[in-house]
Parts: sequence; structure tokens; C-alpha cells
Amino acid sequence: MNRKQRILIIEDETAIRTGLMDVFVYHGYEVDSAADGPEGLHKALSGTFDLIVLDVMLPGMDGFAICDRIRAQDRDQPIIMLTARGSDEDIIRGLTLGADDYVAKPFSVAQLVLRVQAVLRRTGYANDAGDILHLGDTVEIDTRNLCGRRQGETISFTRREMALLAYLNAHGGRAVSREELLHKVWGYARHAQIETRTVDIHIAKLRRKIEVDPGEPVYLVTVRGAGYRLLSE
Ligand code: CA
Repeated sequence: MNRKQRILIIEDETAIRTGLMDVFVYHGYEVDSAADGPEGLHKALSGTFDLIVLDVMLPGMDGFAICDRIRAQDRDQPIIMLTARGSDEDIIRGLTLGADDYVAKPFSVAQLVLRVQAVLRRTGYANDAGDILHLGDTVEIDTRNLCGRRQGETISFTRREMALLAYLNAHGGRAVSREELLHKVWGYARHAQIETRTVDIHIAKLRRKIEVDPGEPVYLVTVRGAGYRLLSE
């Protein structure tokens, strides 16, 4: 049986926090919560959450700082931010810091649940596929457990790296653009003005893990002007 997916809710308003906890428990998730910034950050960094719902305005440390700190630790768990309605600045700032999506307050709970489910689906390639990916005869990747072996040596992956690999793999070796990856793997809105360098940095990290010679990649290759391809043979 699959384990329940775990959600952390960081929100200082008691009514919203407890209301969201009830709703997500009802939808079959395991839920934990924090009522201020420092506690939220602590839980986010120490727990193993599949997704974090993060309010922007919090006592002690705001949601932007928390998002930034989580990403600085290379924690790739999905984050949905609760922003002030109509504040484009909040939305852009949150997405730039690496949030996966946002919902503007006051929000409809049904809408938030849909966003959570969508983000978990997008980031869940690793869990859904749940099998072994072979790259040539040198690399074996266990997509469910975020680990693998390269020439007998153990390698491990972050959730985001695995989602990226799984997405490329699912697209049958065609070249996938950086914009598409930002949209599908990171969940950024299409045409969002996001630095595509984020993708390049992750690709470079992946190459150091899966390529025998990261400078001369044979599996995760660049297609000039088109993006990246994953060749499994
Ligand atoms: Ca708040």
C-alpha cells in the first residue's frame, strides 16, 4: 500500500491553519502545521514533506525568507505560497525564489486542493513511474527511491532532479526546451519571466551524477537551440 503523502502547512491564522489541516486530512493526506516562521522553517528542513503550503505574512520570518532558506538547502520539495490577492509583486517574488505555485488570499479551499493535487502530480513522476531506468549499461536509476548506481558507485538524486530525468525520459528522447521544463517540472506559468539558467544548473548537477564524463555527456545531451534530450541507450 502506498504511504500517505505528507503536507506541511505554515500559517499563523489559527482558523485558516486548522481549517486547511482538516481539509487535507479529509482528502487523504497526512498533515502537520506550524504557526510561525521559525517553527515552519525548522519543520520544513527537518521533516520529509511532499509539499509545503506557505503563507507569506508570518511572525518571526516571512514566507519569502523561508522559501529562500529551503531552496538554499537544496530541498526540492514543492512549495505553494499563499499570497495577498492581486499582489503581482508577491507572486513574482515567490516564483523567483522557487515556489512551485501560488494561491491568492482569500482563496477557495477547493481551488487550493486542486493546486496541491496538480503540483504533486507534476512533481510525482518519480513516484508514479516507480521503476528502474537504465542509461546504457553504466547507469541504473531507481526512480521511486531517488537513488541509483553508476558503474557500481551509489548515486542519489533530489526530488527535482528525478522529476527532471523522469520528464525527459517520458518524452521519448525528443529535445525538450528549457521553457517547457520550467513549465512542466517546476510548475512555472508559461511565459513567466524566469531565468532559464535554473534548468541549466540542474542539468549540470545531473550530468555530474549520471555521466561518466560530465564534460562530454552521452545520455543527457544538449540539442543546440532546442533544449535537452535524454538518451537511454
Ligand atoms: Ca499570515
